[in-house]
Amino acid sequence: MSAKIPYKTYLSETEIPRQWYNMNAVMKIKHEPFLNPATLQPCTADELKAVFCEDCVDQELNRKDLYIDIPEEIRNFYKMYRPSPLVRAYCLEKALGTPAKIYYKFEGNNTSGSHKLNSAVAQAYYAKKQGLKSVTTETGAGQWGTALSMACAYFGLDLTVYMVKVSSEQKPQRREVMRTYGAQVIASPSDTTEAGRKILKEFPGTGGSLGCAISEAVEKAVTSDSCRYVLGSVLDHVVLHQSVIGLESKIALEKYGEQPDIIIGCCGGGSNFGGLIAPFMGDKLQGKNNIDFIGVEPASCPSMTRGKYAYDFCDSAQITPLAKMYTLGCGFMPAPNHAGGLRYHGMSPIVSALYDQGYMRAVSVEQTKVFEAAEMFARIEGILPAPESSHAIRVAVDEALKCKETGEAKTILFGLTGTGYFDMSAYKQFNDRTMSDSIPTDADLAQGFATIPDIPLNK
Ligand SMILES: *Cc1c(COP(=O)(O)O)cnc(C)c1O
Repeated sequence: MSAKIPYKTYLSETEIPRQWYNMNAVMKIKHEPFLNPATLQPCTADELKAVFCEDCVDQELNRKDLYIDIPEEIRNFYKMYRPSPLVRAYCLEKALGTPAKIYYKFEGNNTSGSHKLNSAVAQAYYAKKQGLKSVTTETGAGQWGTALSMACAYFGLDLTVYMVKVSSEQKPQRREVMRTYGAQVIASPSDTTEAGRKILKEFPGTGGSLGCAISEAVEKAVTSDSCRYVLGSVLDHVVLHQSVIGLESKIALEKYGEQPDIIIGCCGGGSNFGGLIAPFMGDKLQGKNNIDFIGVEPASCPSMTRGKYAYDFCDSAQITPLAKMYTLGCGFMPAPNHAGGLRYHGMSPIVSALYDQGYMRAVSVEQTKVFEAAEMFARIEGILPAPESSHAIRVAVDEALKCKETGEAKTILFGLTGTGYFDMSAYKQFNDRTMSDSIPTDADLAQGFATIPDIPLNK
């Protein structure tokens, strides 16, 4: 059977999913709602609609529909770069000498270079449908900003991107890609917002963080006309849009009678991981499989493996609603690790709930070990992976090596979220052997935990 499985499986255009998969509908214990920090009451749809697009808020709060239609306009954009290939990593299997079968779903085959376009297209479409003129956002490593620039150019929306300062310095080329698509790009923290000025005063010389850039983008959205804020990860509607990854993977694997034993994804805000696992996890929640789901995070920003499950702000200026999630504290300043897309203090509430309820595992890995896996993968499988994606490669390789020891022929699926062309300064450090691992001490973490709001629900 396995000999018949091609190196690369593409679905046909008509097989691109027509609906997204909403894990919330099958969760027996739903995750806690967002709270208004002033009243500590659940946020109403209207409160959320002051910040986010209407349809996205409706999706965010939808806990009953397992499938949600993908509008034709969005599906048409998907057709330009989807379906993404599902690759059988024959060469990697051989090099490792493992009996395991390794598959990866490659989301780097579009100009933005990552899976983020899947949600950017959807969110830009809904903003346009609502009649908005502009949207704001933040970007860490630059992939989300690039993806949203592409989507806004396509649907004719203005876009302001607050880009985490260390990333904008590490990746000036990313900024130019965004500007080419028409976005205005501002390094964060900046003096263009109240939130940015406050952080600059408190931490002069800071390289910024995603939490800080979020504060700036939200402030700009709520103080501008006909403008909303859009977020590239963390929220349920983003995980929903990313379920296209898992749905396509499932259709392709089922064609070959394959059922994964292990599914692995890297976790920043949790959207690609949540989307990759969605339909498989839905089955697990209904008792139909016992897949081992593994979320991988950097040892420098270990929200799940060392964080607390608590209500926390989604941003460092504490202006967003409170979300119940695994968090290092909204004031946690991660070390300037090269996987910019994974430097977020919190974790998607739905992924957090799945982790808390024991439906998945989390693993943290050190930066140099991640780049060793990235280098191996580039040389053997040909694709130059993003540092973020390489976290998943690392753990997929480790799991395949465990199979070599035990002789088990497990089927492993991992998400290869993007390419690393804009990460060459990180690769340079690795090649020059000047890369280091920064792992926060318990004292460092305690400082972050001290910024988790001291409210009765967190007791
Ligand atoms: C943003 C990003 C991630 C992490 O974000 P999630 O929301 O956790 O998926 C992973 N890989 C790449 C290439 C990214 O750009």
